[in-house]
Amino acid sequence: MPVIEIRDLHKAYGNLEVIKGVSLAAHRGKVISLIGSSGSGKSTILRCCNLLEDSQQGDVIFKGEKVKWKGEGLGRHPADRDQMIRIRTNLSMVFQQFNLWSHMTILQNVMEAPLTVLKRDRAEVEAAARKYLDKVGIGDKCDVYPAQLSGGQQQRAAIARALCMEPTALLFDEPTSALDPELQQEVVKVIKALAEEHRTMIIVTHDMRLAADVSDHVVFLHQGRIEEEGPPAELFGNPKTERLQGFLSATV
Ligand code: ADP
Ligand code: MG
Repeated sequence: MPVIEIRDLHKAYGNLEVIKGVSLAAHRGKVISLIGSSGSGKSTILRCCNLLEDSQQGDVIFKGEKVKWKGEGLGRHPADRDQMIRIRTNLSMVFQQFNLWSHMTILQNVMEAPLTVLKRDRAEVEAAARKYLDKVGIGDKCDVYPAQLSGGQQQRAAIARALCMEPTALLFDEPTSALDPELQQEVVKVIKALAEEHRTMIIVTHDMRLAADVSDHVVFLHQGRIEEEGPPAELFGNPKTERLQGFLSATV
């Protein structure tokens, strides 16, 4: 049973349909990468997976549990708030712009959601937060504020924060795009280490080398549809559609 699955998902903003019938399944311990041009719908799919966005049609299924919807079409929303929160907290998201709270120390940032959303025990959360900050290589930065860190360090703090929720899967939306090239590698290294631990991940990335190195399955999106998908060796080694061939020759 997949951890998270979407089936024939459609999503529109007003009259603009941006996701036109996408299905994908993230299996436990596997890494999926979503690639495609800007505007192809990558972020929207990720946000639909953890119900940050409503969709107009299609199913979102978390560990076999279908999201219940109320309303129809553009007015469709998750019907069950507990279910929505359960799914969101099990699918931790890492954003391009880190989204750390600037008024909190790094340790406080990592501890915040497990304390307030999950109501976990403070001492346990602090121990876990320190463990994950160590894991991403910034265990010595617990007491500083985000502005005192480099972009790469901030993104690693954001990854520690996602891990501290003990999520079933991690969703990354262009985690290295806001970073200078020399800082991208420190984040890539952390993501590779997570892949080696067989964490379930969906990664939206423009970094084709990262997608090739860590993915079990790569999905190429074009204008809200899956144009081509498969194992990375196949997709990057032998792209079949002209669109993917064109995309790869423009990006690599
Ligand atoms: P990607 O992440 O692949 O760059 P997005 O999922 O962000 O693509 O966007 C897909 C399409 O949806 C784009 O045409 C974008 O302009 C549009 N879009 C995204 N978010 C919104 C929004 N909040 N309101 C209106 N249009 C949006
Ligand atoms: Mg995007």
